[in-house]
Amino acid sequence: SQAREGYIERTKTVCTYCGVGCSFDVWTKGRHILKVEPQQGAANGISTCVKGKFGWDYVNSEDRLTSPLIREGDRFREASWDEALDYVARRLTEIKGQYGPDALSFIASSKCTNEEAFLVQKFARQVIGTNNVDNCSRYCQSPATVGLVRTVGYGGDSGTIKDLEQADLVIGVGTNTAESHPVLATRLKRAQKLGRQKIVVVDLREHELARRADLFLQPRPATDFIWLNAVSRYILDHGLEAREFLAERVDGLAEFRASLEPYTLEYAAEATGWSVETLVNLAEMIASHKRVCIMWAMGVTQQCGGSETSTAISNLLLVTGNYGRPGTGAYPLRGHNNVQGTSDMGAMPDQVSGYQRVTDPEVVARIQAEWGITLRPDRGLDNTQMIDAAIDGRLKAMWLTGEEMSLTDADVNHLIRGYESLELFVVQDLYFTNTARYADVIFPAAPSLEKEGTFTSTERRIQRLYQVMEPLPGCKPDWQIYQAVAQRMGAEGWNYTHPGDIMDEVARVSPMFAGVHYSRLEGYDTLCWPVAEDGTDSPLLYTEEFHFEGGKARLWPAEYVAPVNVPDAEYDLQLNSGRMLEHFHEGNMTFRVAGIAAKTPDAFVEVSPELAAERGVETGSWVRVVSKNGAVRLRALVTERVTGKQIYIPMNSRELEGSVNLLTGQNRDTITHTPAYKDTAVRLEVLGER
Ligand code: SF4
Repeated sequence: SQAREGYIERTKTVCTYCGVGCSFDVWTKGRHILKVEPQQGAANGISTCVKGKFGWDYVNSEDRLTSPLIREGDRFREASWDEALDYVARRLTEIKGQYGPDALSFIASSKCTNEEAFLVQKFARQVIGTNNVDNCSRYCQSPATVGLVRTVGYGGDSGTIKDLEQADLVIGVGTNTAESHPVLATRLKRAQKLGRQKIVVVDLREHELARRADLFLQPRPATDFIWLNAVSRYILDHGLEAREFLAERVDGLAEFRASLEPYTLEYAAEATGWSVETLVNLAEMIASHKRVCIMWAMGVTQQCGGSETSTAISNLLLVTGNYGRPGTGAYPLRGHNNVQGTSDMGAMPDQVSGYQRVTDPEVVARIQAEWGITLRPDRGLDNTQMIDAAIDGRLKAMWLTGEEMSLTDADVNHLIRGYESLELFVVQDLYFTNTARYADVIFPAAPSLEKEGTFTSTERRIQRLYQVMEPLPGCKPDWQIYQAVAQRMGAEGWNYTHPGDIMDEVARVSPMFAGVHYSRLEGYDTLCWPVAEDGTDSPLLYTEEFHFEGGKARLWPAEYVAPVNVPDAEYDLQLNSGRMLEHFHEGNMTFRVAGIAAKTPDAFVEVSPELAAERGVETGSWVRVVSKNGAVRLRALVTERVTGKQIYIPMNSRELEGSVNLLTGQNRDTITHTPAYKDTAVRLEVLGER
């Protein structure tokens, strides 16, 4: 909490960037940020990465919006808050009246607080009467959630970062952990250095953690499902499984075993390009270590079969008994600071807060008692379906909170067609973003340092952030904007005076958060969900039972989904994309941090030395990368991080014109519709300029 020392204030906050959830004190004098000082944060101890330590200039950027804007023809004009709020309330009411509630949609932000995400979905469901609400986990970890909900019950990491640190063996699949989750990676590197832990990395790209791994394996693209199943099969065929654990705690072994029949070592070797011995070594390594964790990220989930591969990961952990004990478990690493929380709070088309299905009669009754409405039983549109529906005319309005979709969604040209088809597009952000260009109304929002609330990190850890400074004049916290429009639309129960009131409501309507109250989250106190009414939290899940009726886990026979956009004669290269250490996500915040922007001024394309030699590319050469969906012009970086005909473009791009997502396409994970960003074939044209 705040301690005043003369003019200098020290305030506890939680990092606004990645999902590790580092917390620290921020020292300020007025709006001037003097320093960031880690205390004993639950996730980070006294560590931070470059972004958490130095990445805060964006708060005072001259680019901040300080007045609502309303479109007039091709231009925007400044409007008072009253005018803009009245305008949005009136247009939402008109569109609902004319086309019905399902013509409207809402997208919550994973950079906003839990309380704000809760209000976005409450607004959609209670004020409008639609389930058309979603969040950016649709672009990243939704497939991981499917894999976990199918097999163990809860859609979150099964333990904490401490468990990852305690594991004897950590396997990272499709995660560039050292750059995307730096402080978490530091804790693993330390455990490895002390000889307590082995690290295996399976990835297309030789990133930093791959270089440090005890075993680094580069499979062919989109073959993780195959090797995971082959390893599970080998373990079962050779009697290396956790027999007692399977007998006592897991259902579905016979069916699962039958589903593994095609996954021989020979088949997996041919698919991945590894030798049979490599696969045997890997399987023996997993079976012989007592405490194994698997962490994964976008390399797994942003594929056509992302949900199925995530399921295969969880199956392997079940086969080897790696759930419910310290140092074991499944760790889909959440990208945004609050992407876990935004889903937890029900900003999803089929569930309200606490993963409660809109079709469950108990949930319907609970919400009826609290909000005075009957929940719609039908699933709403997810992010990707909203854009399709806008293009085909079913969707007329979208209210987008704090997401730069036009840099982060796949197939940007398709997305822009969707925006342009809307009758009302409301964007709420800190800046005039690429996405805001297409808006009808823009609300200037407040960043985390200017408001109170909670974030939930990748380890399901709920942490408070305190207001470090007043909102910049003209800006408002997102929860106040939603509340102001709800009040104008005559909605009941929108009289929150503080985010703590909102969290009390979350606790009332969501058994998973029954014991979450601000009084239990003072200062550096945290709670890992589920939290019982008496405040008992759950850092390690499944110690006694899995989250299913009867308490047993379920081995799930998953199905292979083949990639679609494999390279061919015309598009002969495989495109991979992801993050880089210095920038966060699309980069709207970090490009406004002078030191970071100077060090890493823009995106680039990584080209392997082999490909560079073949095509005459040097570091610094301008190249054009072309896919079926679009083209970008970037400078090349020749590096051994990539091999052969794979190229890599960071998703952090200063301008739309350099965005990797002009190249990505419409293929999606079969279950969640998460775009299969990694399923992209391209060609490279050398522009011959330096
Ligand atoms: Fe922030 Fe993540 Fe860096 Fe921690 S590791 S300081 S949460 S960006």
